[in-house]
Amino acid sequence: GAMTASARRRVLLAAPRGYCAGVDRAVITVEKALEQYGAPVYVRKQIVHNKYVVQTLEKKGAIFVDETEEVPEGAIVIFSAHGVAPVVHDEAAQRRLASIDATCPLVTKVHKEAKRFASEDYDILLIGHEGHEEVIGTMGEAPERIHLVDGPEDVAGLSVRDENKLVWLSQTTLSVDETMETVDKLKERFPALVSPPSDDICYATQNRQVAVKQLGADADLVVVVGSKNSSNSVRLVEVALQAGARDAHLVDFADEIDEAWLEGVSTVGVTSGASVPEILVEGVLEWLAKRGYEDVEVVTSARESIQFSLPKELRRDLRAEA
Ligand code: SF4
Repeated sequence: GAMTASARRRVLLAAPRGYCAGVDRAVITVEKALEQYGAPVYVRKQIVHNKYVVQTLEKKGAIFVDETEEVPEGAIVIFSAHGVAPVVHDEAAQRRLASIDATCPLVTKVHKEAKRFASEDYDILLIGHEGHEEVIGTMGEAPERIHLVDGPEDVAGLSVRDENKLVWLSQTTLSVDETMETVDKLKERFPALVSPPSDDICYATQNRQVAVKQLGADADLVVVVGSKNSSNSVRLVEVALQAGARDAHLVDFADEIDEAWLEGVSTVGVTSGASVPEILVEGVLEWLAKRGYEDVEVVTSARESIQFSLPKELRRDLRAEA
């Protein structure tokens, strides 16, 4: 009965998982801004794509808005980790907002590449997901030069000015394997296509995909903790399935796990997206432990030590205070 079945039940916990350096910095930015300036502090868009993080910061006095025009004149506004188009900086200046830019430095890097290649008169093929905030921000650097490529099926329909002056860039949170498929397709069509000087898919996205791949093959079920609008989290579900997991699901909270998913499952893989606080993973592990999955083995595929300093506007004020 239950005893023999439960003896074989185990959890494989991916490492690295959860918070990346850019998310950590963005969340701390909002917390420190609330301490420094007092509530309310306005944040344009979700600071990071995680429901729990947004709800927690709202309780502390952050007000999340969709557009700069919703922020009262003269107030403080924080730009999210996903980055903004230059026009958003202009709008904020017009409204005399004190802006704090929490754009991840690795997103800023892609903005700079886009700007540079556009100024050198390249057309830019930006591989990314239509409508994602990061993509909207990056395209805003050179709207008339950047063409969005949302997967291999977009390649045939592209029209560019000069096939010999073309470069591809990408969103930071894509599937590495899928992006390479798209790049191969692009190179077939445009043999002179130039590659970016360094990886645009960030270290955290890559590491979390490698980690989930490692346990995917051994897992009957993979639970990815993350929000539906989190690009890198959604990719982790896809990568787990491609790696051989029988089943994989994305959940914001442990109580979203369906008992039915556990039927016939002995090994559960667990990981979390780059915007997910560890407390939510702990909740999932507790939920699983109550159902006999108490044996947790950490599967480590990389170690991360990268950290980013806080936005300079905030550092200046924190220093002045000290
Ligand atoms: Fe920066 Fe990568 Fe984290 Fe996005 S996922 S915030 S690009 S480190």
